[in-house]
Amino acid sequence: MPVRTVTDRYTGELLPVGKILCLGRNYIAHAREMKADLPSTPVVFLKPATALLHTGETIVIPPLSHELHYEAEMVVVMGNDGKDIPEARALSHVYGYAVGLDMTLRDLQSEAKKNGLPWSVAKGFDTSAPVSEVVTRDRINDPHSLQLTLQVNGRTRQNASTGDMIFRIEKVIAFLSQIFTLERGDLIFTGTPEGVGEVKSGDTLVAELTSVGTLSVSVR
Ligand code: MG
Repeated sequence: MPVRTVTDRYTGELLPVGKILCLGRNYIAHAREMKADLPSTPVVFLKPATALLHTGETIVIPPLSHELHYEAEMVVVMGNDGKDIPEARALSHVYGYAVGLDMTLRDLQSEAKKNGLPWSVAKGFDTSAPVSEVVTRDRINDPHSLQLTLQVNGRTRQNASTGDMIFRIEKVIAFLSQIFTLERGDLIFTGTPEGVGEVKSGDTLVAELTSVGTLSVSVR
């Protein structure tokens, strides 16, 4: 069983990945396009570490789904362990930032939503969590002023500022750490902006976050 890791872009350090926590509906325009209410507290779900995928690798659609969607997201990589972390100290617990894709089996997720069932299958399947290399926080002036873009087959589909998040990183870490002990190597997917859509077998996805880098994967 291989240890799942993310890599520091500049030092090559490998961080073993524990939990992958994800936020839903963290950008207003995306909540609207999904016809969902704006949350008053963060919407949280999990992916297993076995969902990790790295740049150059291939997303595989499980046979029980016929509708794979992309969601480009900023990913926070935790550095220092913590529980009940106050907002004022939240960023000091961050190792760095990456760009990721919250790949979603939208047909199965819609079915689950309709029936009040969990999203684990729709969100946590193998290859559902592509993540780029990580850039340490000291190299990022302001994590809320980065441009997040996604191209599918060379065409721009998502383009937004991380400043448009409803719940900012400090709040997200403080909130999550009241529920989950956060550990070095845990990942937090911070939600996607508007412009989500379907990809098919043979498509190539390139997500980019300014100052952080790019992530390139294809769909089988
Ligand atoms: Mg998402």
